[in-house]
Parts: sequence; structure tokens; C-alpha cells
Amino acid sequence: MQQKLTKLAESIDGELYTDSTHLILYATDASAYREIPTAVCVPKSWDDVRKVITFASKERLPVIPRTAGTSLAGQVVGKGIVVDLSKNFRKILEINPEERWVVVQPGVVRDELNMELKKYGLFFSPETSTSNRCMIGGMVGNNSCGNRSVIYGSTRDHLIAVKAILSDGTEVEFKELTDEEFEAKCNGENVSSPLEVAIYQNIKRILSDKENQERIRRKFPKDSIIRRNTGYAIDLLLNTSPFTPGKAPFNFCKLIAGSEGTLAFITEIKLHLDPVLPPEIGLACLHFDNVDESLRANLIALKYKPSACELMDHYILECTKNNIEYRQHRFFVKGDPGAILVVEFARETREEIEQICANMIAELKEAGLGYHYPVIYGEDTAKIWHLRKAGLGLLSNMPGDPKAVPVIEDTAVDVEDLPEYIREFNEILKKYDLYSVHYAHAGSGELHLRPIINLKTVEGNRLFRTIAEEIAALVKKYRGSLSGEHGDGRLRGEFIRYMIGAKNYALLKEIKRTWDPNNIFNPGKIVDTPSMNTSLRFEELGDLHAEQLRRHHVPQLHGCP
Ligand SMILES: Cc1cc2nc3c(=O)[nH]c(=O)nc-3n(C[C@H](O)[C@H](O)[C@H](O)COP(=O)(O)OP(=O)(O)OC[C@H]3O[C@@H](n4cnc5c(N)ncnc54)[C@H](O)[C@@H]3O)c2cc1C
Repeated sequence: MQQKLTKLAESIDGELYTDSTHLILYATDASAYREIPTAVCVPKSWDDVRKVITFASKERLPVIPRTAGTSLAGQVVGKGIVVDLSKNFRKILEINPEERWVVVQPGVVRDELNMELKKYGLFFSPETSTSNRCMIGGMVGNNSCGNRSVIYGSTRDHLIAVKAILSDGTEVEFKELTDEEFEAKCNGENVSSPLEVAIYQNIKRILSDKENQERIRRKFPKDSIIRRNTGYAIDLLLNTSPFTPGKAPFNFCKLIAGSEGTLAFITEIKLHLDPVLPPEIGLACLHFDNVDESLRANLIALKYKPSACELMDHYILECTKNNIEYRQHRFFVKGDPGAILVVEFARETREEIEQICANMIAELKEAGLGYHYPVIYGEDTAKIWHLRKAGLGLLSNMPGDPKAVPVIEDTAVDVEDLPEYIREFNEILKKYDLYSVHYAHAGSGELHLRPIINLKTVEGNRLFRTIAEEIAALVKKYRGSLSGEHGDGRLRGEFIRYMIGAKNYALLKEIKRTWDPNNIFNPGKIVDTPSMNTSLRFEELGDLHAEQLRRHHVPQLHGCP
């Protein structure tokens, strides 16, 4: 293999690394997983990428597309060739302010894109906490979203079109199609290869079947759940006009978003843009004695149409106390709250926001919810968001071996179900003497719940799996989504079959087989995922690289290596 890789390296303009330093650096993302890849490619052109795909196809070697590598579920961890686009594919290709869209390469950083779009009064609205480093390719791959998903939804909702390289090396464009255009593709017209015809015929066959339709509708997460990454989004494709008359036109982008690099290699991305928020922003920082109270208040707050409704619990607030940077941003915190709900209103004038907040606070008081209700305006609002965004990073850097681990950190349920769901969730944790941190996107039914576990112990490793299984059952009971934004990856892939049932899962496998017959694109994610407690960073290292890793003494990495 080494010889073949050397030949591949000679044939491309970019770099191909097989030295241990590169392999170790690319063995991780921001998750609990680690696997040593076979090689790391930093391509210079799409031609390089095509050569890698052709090589991988011939050698049956995985290709793992990677941008910033901030995934939390092991999406860019695996054996094979990791293809890093973060260096040479950072161009904004076209901006159309009148029609409000932009075309970018996958390696454009989300915040850098928005800095450029600011002069047009526009922005790409999904906003991850990692927005200053995560890249659009990865946001599409994971169907990412952020604080304002209550009004802006997720990346999928803004994906107009993508250009991509399929597993046979041919180029395609996926975009909205009329019913006639969709039929034409199924009949082999306007396609670039037999593989493209096959993927259209495959989806048509699956989604035209009445039994499949009924089962997909019954088993996928409730329609009311905005944040939904549960395998391939065939439930959303079913709701397009060839299969459900009167619905939106067919667009494969719905499936590509959240497909975690398992179906095609994306080369260009066309995104819908939103006008920047109205000039006046007010943040009502509602203080509660406990999380349960805050989640009931969340339902009242949502009636007033906020642009975000974000939770920080006592634990997160404690972490910020001891941090030199963040403790300055705690100016609005009074006493020792069990939870703070930050409710954002963006309107044309401050008077409007004052009126809305007065009404909301009156209703909360009447319901006996909360004890302190400051509303913050102007520059200070940035400090509050800064504090909220800091949560995950601070938790990742907890001193000592027990960490707030990402294992069930991304569940989403109908927002109305959230208080009851969290109550049951905490009962499960209590059985194991565990405590979980609660924070983030209460407004859209998703809290980042991270139990504190020591993964360096056998007991911790066992708990990692037990908790995942029990919480999967709970999420299923509420017909929620195991992943709201972080994706399935190595962590949740194993549970998709359980969540949507064996027959629906078989459809996802059929899709993967059709798109990628040699199973080269990021295998082991979405379908055929290995057990979630294998390839963990801290498990006993049994492979050939173990000695190498020990010699290099790899510290725990957080975010991009
Ligand atoms: C501290 C912290 C906070 C976070 N907060 C949030 C949050 O608020 N919201 C949220 O949604 N996520 C969050 N995340 C997760 C992560 O940052 C996002 O999922 C982010 O969008 C990933 O972008 P990336 O560039 O790092 O992608 P990567 O991790 O590099 O890749 C993500 C996926 O996209 C695929 N991919 C990348 N490029 C391509 C391509 N060209 N073609 C095909 N597939 C491709 C990869 O194979 C992979 O499956 C957080 C992570 C951390 C560490």
C-alpha cells in the first residue's frame, strides 16, 4: 500500500502525508474517538480529489472529507484517506445580493463568510458555537445549526444547490427539480453518468412505495421537531412534490445535508441568505431556581416570538465563575441561579422590545416562574452570548479525568415535551449516581446534556454505553431525534436502526449501496456504524500504532488539531 500511496502522491498537485505526525494529528476530531488514518491528503485542486476517489475506489480504501474537524461525534475519524479541504478551498465564488444567495467552496469559515456578506446587509444564518472556525462543507455534512434555529432552522433549510463528485468520479449538481425534471432524471435524461440515473431511480422506487411511505411517516421524528439529524432525511424527501402532491419541489440537497460525507464529495455549495437582524436587540435574562422551572418558562417565552431561547444551568455558570475572561461577562447574574434562560428579541425599536418583555415577564410572574428578569440592550448583549457560547469549550477543559462527555448531548424533542423529557432523563441519570450539565437550545427542544464520566476507567466506559442505550429509548418514547445538530457519526450511528426501525434502516442502507457501491465515502457513519464504545481515545490501544502513539504522548485534543 505504501508504494501505491507514493505513486498517488506523485500524481497530485497537493500533498499526501503518511508520516506518523500527520496521521496522529488527523486521528481525532472534537469527539471521544480516535483512529489512525492510512493517509492524509491536502489537495490543491478538484482534480486531485478525483484522483484520490478513483484510487480509493480501486483499492477499496475509505475517503473521509474533512474541513475544520470540529465534529463531536467522530464524523471525520476513521481509517482511510482523510481529505482536508481547510487549506485550499476557501473561496467565496459568487454573491447575488438581489436574489439573496452565495456560492462557496466547502472550506470557507462560517464567520468569515458573514464578514464578507455584511456589506450587503445579508448573512448565512445557521450559527454554531464554533462559527469562527467551522466551515461550510462541515456545516452541510452535519446539517449544523445554532442559537437562532427557532427562526432560522438548520443548514439544510438554506441549502439551495450543491455540486459534488460521486463515487464513480463523475460530477453532478443537486438542486430543485420540477416533477418533470425529476422524471427526466429517472429516465436517464440530463444526467452525467449511469450512477446518477441509478440514484434517482432508487429514491423514486423507495419513496413511491405506499408501505414505505406509511412507515417512514410513523417512525421518523415528529414533524414539529426542527432539529433533526436521524440518518438520511428520507422523511423530508418524502414530503416533496413527486411523492406528496402540493409540497415543495424535489431537491437531493435535503439528503446531502446531514449525510456526513457518506454519499458524495461536495465541491461547491449554494446557500440562501437572510437579511441581518433588525437593529435593536434585547436579551431578557430570566433567572430560575432550577432547570425544570426554566423549561416551563421556555414555553411561555416562545409565545412572544423570540429569535433565540437559550439555557445555561448552574453548572455552566459555575464554570464561568473561575475563568478570568468569562467572569467579567457575568455582570447580569444575580444570586446563585439554578438556570438562566436567555430570550432574545430583535425588533426595529427598543420600545417594541420593552413592551414585549413587560408582557412576557408579567405572564411569567403570574405563573410563579422566575425570580429576577433583567433585560439587557446594546453592546452588553454580545458579552452574554459570548458567555453562553463559552459553555461547551469550558466544559471540555474541566480539570481532572472526569469530563462532561458528549454521548447523549444532542437529543431534540418537541419543545412541548421538553420539561417532561428532562424530568425522566434526570431520573435515569440518578440511578447511576450521575449528574448532567444542561444548556443551550431550549427554544427548539434541544438541550446539550452532558453527564460527567471518567472515560479512562472501565466503569466509565461501561456507563458511556449504558447511558446511550437508556436515553435512546427515552428519546424514542417521545419520537424525538437522537441528534439535533451534532450529527450521528460514530456515536449515534449504531442507534439509528433502533430509532427508526429495521425496515426504514434497510432503506438507508440501500441508498448508501446505490450511491457508493464500493463503500468508500466515510464508511461506518450513518449506516453500518461500529459499536459506539469502540475506537475511543482512551481504550486500551491494541493495534500496531499503539506504541507509536505512546511514544508521541498524544494529549487530549479539543477542536481542530
Ligand atoms: C465546542 C464545540 C461547540 C459546537 N457547537 C455546535 C453548535 O452550536 N451547533 C452545531 O451544529 N454544531 C456544533 N458543534 C459541532 C461542529 O462544530 C459542527 O458540526 C460544524 O459545523 C462542523 O464543521 P467542520 O468544518 O468542523 O466539519 P468537519 O468536522 O470537518 O466535518 C463534518 C462532516 O462534514 C463532512 N464534510 C466536510 N466537508 C465535506 C465535503 N466537501 N463533502 C462531503 N462531506 C463533507 C465530513 O466528512 C463530516 O462528516 C460544536 C463543536 C464543538 C467542538
